[in-house]
Order: sequence, then C-alpha cells, then structure tokens
Amino acid sequence: MTPRRPQHRGHKERKIGNHVLKPESQMMGYGYDPQLSEGAIKCPIFQTSTFVFETAEAGKAFFELANGQREPQPGEQAGLIYSRLNNPDLEILEDRLTLWDEAEAAAAFDSGMAAIATSLLAYVRPGDVLVHSDPLYGGTEYFLEHVVAEFGVAPVGFPAGVPLAGFEGELRERIAGRHVGAVLIETPANPTNALVDIADVARFAHGLGTPDRRPVVMVDNTFLGPLWQRPLEHGADLVIYSATKFLGGHSDVIAGAVLGSRAVLEPVRRLRSFLGTMASPLTGWLLLRSLETLKMRMTAQMKNARYVADFLAGHPAVTSVQYLGRTHEKDPMYRTYRRQCLGPGSLVSFEVAGGEPAAFRFLNALKLVHLAVSLGGTESLAEHPATMTHADLPLEERERMGITAGLVRVSVGVEHYEDIIADLQQALDAVGSDAEASARRLRRGALKGAPASVFQHGSV
Ligand code: PLP
Repeated sequence: MTPRRPQHRGHKERKIGNHVLKPESQMMGYGYDPQLSEGAIKCPIFQTSTFVFETAEAGKAFFELANGQREPQPGEQAGLIYSRLNNPDLEILEDRLTLWDEAEAAAAFDSGMAAIATSLLAYVRPGDVLVHSDPLYGGTEYFLEHVVAEFGVAPVGFPAGVPLAGFEGELRERIAGRHVGAVLIETPANPTNALVDIADVARFAHGLGTPDRRPVVMVDNTFLGPLWQRPLEHGADLVIYSATKFLGGHSDVIAGAVLGSRAVLEPVRRLRSFLGTMASPLTGWLLLRSLETLKMRMTAQMKNARYVADFLAGHPAVTSVQYLGRTHEKDPMYRTYRRQCLGPGSLVSFEVAGGEPAAFRFLNALKLVHLAVSLGGTESLAEHPATMTHADLPLEERERMGITAGLVRVSVGVEHYEDIIADLQQALDAVGSDAEASARRLRRGALKGAPASVFQHGSV
C-alpha cells in the first residue's frame, strides 16, 4: 500500500544536509505532500466525516492499529477511518505543533477547555488529589471546583509567584498521603502573570509517585506560548494550550492542543476519541494557517507589550504593573523567570487606582483597544478579570490572588505601539484626577503588609 502521507522527504525534511531547519521554516510544509492533493501548495480542508477503505482487509488493518490490537509493521501507517479518530488536517496540524515544543506527539482539540478536561479526566481517579497552582483561568478553576470535585477528586491549590520551598511542607500535609493523579500548573498565571517554577514542581510531583502510578505534570502554557516557554524542557509531562489564543492568533477560532511523549499522550488521545473533543477539519486548517505566522505575531506583540508596560508604569493613575519584562531582581521568582522563560510575552495586567468604577471608566473610554475577554489575537484586547474571566471566584480568594477590583488585563496586539499607547493614555486620562491622587497614596504604601498565608484556599 502506498503511504498516504509523506515520510518527510525533499523540502519537507527537517534537515538540509546536516543543517537542522528551524520551526518557522518548517511551518509551511512539514507533514504535507502536495502530490497527494492534486499538487495544491496548501493543505485542503478535508471536510469529511468518514474515509473510504480500498479493501475490507485495509479497513480491518486500520482498525487493528487504531484499537492498539497490534504494533504497526515496518513502514505501515495508521489509516484514515473516521474524523472523530483522525483526519488529515488534524494529523498535519499535530505534526507541526510538535515542532516548537520539540514534543514527540500532539493532539488537537476543539477548545482549550476540551484539552484541559480530557487530559485531566485521562489521569485522575476517584479518591485522588489534583494539585494545582492558583490562580488559574476561571473556566479551569470552575472545572476543578465544580466538576472534577464531584467525581471524588480533591483539588489542592498552591500559590503561583512564590518558590516551592516556602510551602512544600504544608502542601505535603494537605495531600496527606493520598495519591496525586495530576499536577496542573498555569504559568504565568492568568491574569496576574505570577510564575510557577516548572522544574521544582515536576521534581516534587514525580517524587510523590508509586511504582505503578506517577503524577502527570501538566502545564497550561497558553500565556507565553511555545515561543517564550517550553515546559517539556523543564520536566513537564504534558503541555496544554488554549489554541484559541496565540496559536490561532486572529480571534476567529476556538481550539486547544496537548503535547508530550507518545506514551503519556496516548490515554489522552484515547479518551478524546470517545468524548469526541477533537478539533474539526476547518479548525485544523485555520490553525495550520495561523502557525505559519506564529513567530512574527508573537515577536511583534511582545515588542509592543514592552513599550505598553513601560508607559503604564509611568502613568500617575496606575498603581502597579504586572508584566514579566519588568520582573525585578528582588522578585522571589526572578531566577525562575530567567531560567524558564525565553521572553516576557504580551500580557500586561495593571491596577487602576479607584477600584471597579475607575477600571470601568477606563475600559469604557477605550477607542482602539477592544473591550473583550480572550487574548493572543492580532488586535489588542482589554478586560476586567474580577467581574469577567474570574468572576466565579469568591471575593476573598480573588483578592488574595491579586485579582483586585482595579485590575485590568491587556492583551497587546500587533498594531503600532504608539497608537495603542495613545488609546491607553486618553482612556486613563478619562479616569480622572481622583484616581491619580489615590494612586500616589497607594504607591507610597505599596511595600507595607504581606499576605497571612501563601495558600489560596482550602479546597481539600
Ligand atoms: N487556559 C487559559 C490560560 C485561558 O486563558 C483559557 C481561556 O481564556 C483557557 C485555558 C480555555 O481555553 P478555551 O477558551 O479555548 O476553551
């Protein structure tokens, strides 16, 4: 039988002689053979639910491989069966997704939440503890507290932004000898940009394993994307993306992805087939197109964000700015930042003096930057985490995590940075002088006081 997809020949090879091609050079061709699609330079959208088998024997062989009933023979590839199991757009997308993170395998999903939910359900069992960093994206937090918890899995949160050494003993006590099925880290955290040291947590988590079960360390890398952070290099088992964000990059698709070794990804892929949480062919195609410009977009956004963060830090109505590019040497996570992150990304959170009324006045005055949730798209977006993405959290927890009433999150786009700043400037001016006086008071008092406990909530 002729292979239906290239074995990465000619221009699709990952090397020219001994020269290894960079991911951005491979994004336009890797995994796709035009000769299999009438010479089309771009992969078509395989908008089909099912695939015709050449013979009954071929269909049988495809099912044997899909069901894991036998190992493939040398040169034998998994055949196309049904688009809930596999589809050319998804397979090519998954091949390309592995390139930036240098992962062995990838699985594409129809949303970031589908990727997170499927990965967690593949690895946690009733009676387990699910250790996670705090804060998390509001939807993930809800899934842990209200869905997973109802299946007898106990979420145990620990704080982002503080080195593990400061709370490891307390965390161990709260796990209390129970099995940890999975550890889910979001770093940097949405919306505060607080970091978690992936290597430290992976070492801790893997040390909790038993000979037959080892906690799977999952890192939601949505905020920095594969350009600015590669969790697998730091000991993570799975890296998860809301591909709705930077991977998609144009605010026109909802999607997710999970990457890791073939062995760790296998239970996730299997569960995806039965939950039906895979991405559609059109979603796969849209992401293939987006990945071609990932580096350009993310680099332009990051450069803009640096200017935006500096501008905000100098504005009298702003009391604090949380941007990784401004991480100070005295910050407890400075060393983690230097070791773990390849760039500061383009998410900037800042506190407007005057709480919710001032934050709302600012958001309502924006003219170029859109008032919308989500992030990572080409256009700049601003939102109010306390009443929008993280509104489900109890007030006390929100405040402890730094998600205050005056906090605004901006996802910086690819517009000219001077235009973004002009818009932010006029919107901050609209907040008024009361906020500026209050900001001066808050800045003076900023160094006083510290949280009583580093733990966010006792959800055991
Ligand atoms: N993870 C993070 C960090 C997010 O910000 C989001 C959504 O905003 C998600 C996961 C969920 O992704 P999706 O909306 O694609 O389901």
